Amino acid sequence: MSQASFSSLSLRTELLSNLESLGYQSMTPIQAQSLPAIIAGKDVIAQGKTGSGKTAAFGLGLLQALDVKRFRIQTLVLCPTRELADQVATEIRKLARAIHNIKVLTLCGGMPFGPQIGSLEHGAHIVVGTPGRILDHIEKGTLVLDDITTFVLDEADRMLDMGFQPALDAIIEKMPTQRQTLLFSATFPDEIKSIADRIMDQPEFVKVESTH
Ligand code: ADP
Ligand code: MG
Repeated sequence: MSQASFSSLSLRTELLSNLESLGYQSMTPIQAQSLPAIIAGKDVIAQGKTGSGKTAAFGLGLLQALDVKRFRIQTLVLCPTRELADQVATEIRKLARAIHNIKVLTLCGGMPFGPQIGSLEHGAHIVVGTPGRILDHIEKGTLVLDDITTFVLDEADRMLDMGFQPALDAIIEKMPTQRQTLLFSATFPDEIKSIADRIMDQPEFVKVESTH
């Protein structure tokens, strides 16, 4: 299982050749177990430790689903902290290198609003951010989520630990219900289960203990 090659997936050729140039030779276990369902458009809950390769699992899925010709915010990725959001955006940009004109925007707290509003006016395909700031932009009317087709909760357990549940609920309310929802977490406490029950549609559950 851990030797599974990315080429066994029906990914766009430019994504596959870029993975090769990145030196990603085989899928990590969590990628091998979650990517087929993610690419098929299903809702997926994936539980795995730090370093198991969760970012590429949802990153490849959202890039595969994206319509680059449509310059609309089609994907929202929520992360608990600015540092994590920056890391996720960096990894998505790396995975997307071979796709021309793709725009990934980060929107995090602790940063001034002005440049973020300017970037939103220019537009993006993918937004990665922290719940508080994303909600601020929604409330200001500077971020509209009407075109979201893929929604990712990364490190969902940490977001709940940090008290983001009300912000998450308010954000989810502003998104189309017809969408793919992907939830990644290192642990799976009852609070996550109850969120998943409310916001996901017949999710597939993947759990991986080891990283390699
Ligand atoms: P997690 O979110 O599960 O903690 P990350 O997505 O940050 O893990 O991945 C950890 C590291 O592994 C990153 O540096 C990433 O670039 C690398 N990585 C992910 N998938 C692969 C792969 N299939 N082959 C090689 N390296 C990978
Ligand atoms: Mg991660």
